[in-house]
Amino acid sequence: MQIKLEHLTKRFGDTVAVNDLSITLESGRLIALLGPSGCGKTTTLNMISGILPVSGGSIFFDDRDVTNLPPEKRGIGLVFQNYALYPHMTVLQNICFPMEIQRIPKKERIRRAEELAEMVHITPYLKRKPAELSGGQQQRVAIARALSKRPDVLLLDEPLSNLDAKLRVEMREEIRRIQREAGITTVFVTHDQEEASSIADRVVLLRDGVLQQEDTARGLYENPVNLFAADFLGTPPINQLHGVVQNGRLVLDGGIPAALALPDGLAEGQEIVLAVRAESILPQSDTPAFRTTVLERYSLGKDELVRLQAGPAELRGLVPAELEILPGAELAVGLKKRGVFLFDAKTGVRYL
Ligand code: ATP
Repeated sequence: MQIKLEHLTKRFGDTVAVNDLSITLESGRLIALLGPSGCGKTTTLNMISGILPVSGGSIFFDDRDVTNLPPEKRGIGLVFQNYALYPHMTVLQNICFPMEIQRIPKKERIRRAEELAEMVHITPYLKRKPAELSGGQQQRVAIARALSKRPDVLLLDEPLSNLDAKLRVEMREEIRRIQREAGITTVFVTHDQEEASSIADRVVLLRDGVLQQEDTARGLYENPVNLFAADFLGTPPINQLHGVVQNGRLVLDGGIPAALALPDGLAEGQEIVLAVRAESILPQSDTPAFRTTVLERYSLGKDELVRLQAGPAELRGLVPAELEILPGAELAVGLKKRGVFLFDAKTGVRYL
């Protein structure tokens, strides 16, 4: 099922939680709604599910306009952060409950529930109550229950945030597997860029209710449209060096000249942010871009992370472990072509 949002808007009094959002989420994909706290992810999901009425715009499931349909008429399965399982029911009863409401015959209910339990790997626990399960097992039950009505769309709101770090990684792989097996269009809300990047086919990046970019995680990482997108994705975070255009050249804060070909059309005095991924810093280059001082180095196994100082800015670079550079040394660094961007310091708009 394809989900199409057209000029979707939600206002709470003076707050515009979602602002004129237009995107198409393709059928059978896993799509992450990503962004910092308060950017409108949950509000968007709740409008897709029908829990929240829209203030403006439309929602289509394929060609069907569902904008004003109640949740139960939309053909969706929902999984919440706290799972919201029925505590007094067994796992089997929890999974069967939505089918009971749909008046599916008992035999068929149990057959489907057992099939789903198999798929999400909870068959041994069908007779237990939710309180007798671990967080990860409860999450699997919540997913099985959401899928039991055979929805066209699965909506998950921060489904992994109550799990510890190790289980979170395991469960995100599980969600990916289950989603692929079920072949269901899935929208997944998260504020964690690593989580979004690791499982989503497409990432929808929001800020203050406004769509910033919609792409694959790799596309967002390698080709961010603005400074916010460049900064939001990547570990360690992208290095940012502020500077100004002087005599057609970039001079970084601290008076450090940067040997960098600037794009046409930059005005004299224009304030710029040079953003560089850690892996795009070349510690040994025939054409260095600017000089730095080595502050510290840390081993990451195969590579090392070096902390460098360039004027008032600190940056991190990934260097081969065998490279001999000591704290205190001067280091003129080069830049790769990939992972190096120029943004307008005021607007965040990308120039290069
Ligand atoms: P988080 O990751 O913290 O859950 P989010 O990206 O999901 O954040 P939303 O919960 O969608 O963000 O909230 C978006 C904006 O709308 C926020 O400024 C929030 O304060 C506001 N908001 C959300 N729900 C309501 C409400 N019921 N009444 C008033 N304002 C609301």
